[in-house]
Amino acid sequence: MAKVYYDDSVASDKLEGKTIAIVGYGSQGHAHAQNLRDNGHQVVIGIRPGKSADSAKEDGFDVYEVAEATKRADVVMILAPDEIQGDLYENEIAPNLEAGNALAFAHGFNIHFSVITPPADVDVFLVAPKGPGHLVRRTFVQGFAVPALFGVYQDATGDATELALAYAKGIGATRVGVLETTFKEETETDLFGEQAVLCGGLTSMIEAGFETLVEAGYQPELAYFEVCHEMKLIVDLIYEGGFGQMRHSISNTAEYGDYVSGPRVITEQTKANMKAVLTDIQNGNFAKGFVEDNKNGFKNFYAMREKNAGHPIEAVGNELRKMMPFVKQKN
Ligand code: NDP
Ligand code: MG
Ligand code: MG
Repeated sequence: MAKVYYDDSVASDKLEGKTIAIVGYGSQGHAHAQNLRDNGHQVVIGIRPGKSADSAKEDGFDVYEVAEATKRADVVMILAPDEIQGDLYENEIAPNLEAGNALAFAHGFNIHFSVITPPADVDVFLVAPKGPGHLVRRTFVQGFAVPALFGVYQDATGDATELALAYAKGIGATRVGVLETTFKEETETDLFGEQAVLCGGLTSMIEAGFETLVEAGYQPELAYFEVCHEMKLIVDLIYEGGFGQMRHSISNTAEYGDYVSGPRVITEQTKANMKAVLTDIQNGNFAKGFVEDNKNGFKNFYAMREKNAGHPIEAVGNELRKMMPFVKQKN
C-alpha cells in the first residue's frame, strides 16, 4: 500500500527562507506559484518573454529569464513542456545551479529517461499533482487540494525528502494527501495511463464505437450521443462512487449488457496489447520516439494531430454541441 503524508506528517518547513523559481507559467506553473505564494513562500517566475510572462506579471510576480530566475533560486521547479525541458536545462538552468540547490519536477520523464542528468551535488525531487493546474489552483482557493505524488531521485543534502514534502505542503497537496513514489513508477504509470486508457484507449474506443454504428447505417448524430456525449455522464458516476454507483444508477438493461458485452470488447488480446504498450514505455522505446520526433520538428506528431482532427466524429460533435449551450465550447 502507498504511504500517504498529510499536513501534520510534514515535520519541518525546509522551504523557509528559500527562494523558489517556478520555470514556466502554464497549467501547472501558475497554480504552483500562486499556491506557494499564498502559503507565504518566496516565489520568482522563470520564463521567456511572451503571453505567459505577461500573465505572471499581471498576477504580481517577479518575472525573469530562466537563467536569472535559476540564479536567484534555491529550489528550481521545472514546469515547462516536457519536450523542451532538456534544452532549457542545458542552456539556462544547469550553468546557474549551485551545490545544495534543488531541482524539482511535476513529471519524472526527463530524469527517468536520462534526457536531463543533474549534477551530484543538487537534490532532485518530484511533486506531481494528480490533476490539471487549473484544478490545483481552484481547489486550493476553495480550501482543499488535488492529491499529489512525491518522490526523491537524488538526496544530496540529506534534506531532499523533507524539502519535497514541504513543497507538496506549499502547494496545498498535503491537505488531502500526498503519496510516496519514485521517478520510475510515476513516469511509467503516468505514461501508461494516458496512452492505454485515459487518452489513447478512450478516444480509440469512442471512434471504433462511432464507426461501428455509422457503418451499420445509423445516423452519425445518434452515434455521437450514444458513444461520446454520454461518456461524461457515466464517468462522473464512476468518479463519484466507483463502478458500483454507476451500475446502481443505470438501467438493469444497461447493467446486464455491461457484464455480457464489456469483456467481448476489451478481451485478453486487448490486455496483451496493453502489456505491449507498457513494455515500450518501460524499455524507453516510447520516450525515444517522442524525443526524436521533437528533434525532427514534431513531424509525426503534427501529422497525427491533423489526421485525427479530420475524423468525422469531430464535425458531428461540433454541430451537436451548439445545441447544448451548457456544454462549454472551446474551438
Ligand atoms: P503548459 O504547456 O501548460 O505550460 C508550459 C509553460 O512553459 C508555459 O508557460 C510556456 O510559456 C512555458 N515555456 C514554454 N517554452 C518555454 C521556454 N523555452 N522557456 C521558458 N518557458 C517556456 O505545461 P503544463 O503545465 O501542462 O506542464 C508542465 C509540467 O507539468 C510537465 O512536466 C507536465 O508533464 C507536468 N504535469 C502537467 C499536468 C497537467 O495536467 N497539465 C499534470 C501533472 C504534471 P509560453 O506561453 O511562453 O509558451
Ligand atoms: Mg502525463
Ligand atoms: Mg443509451
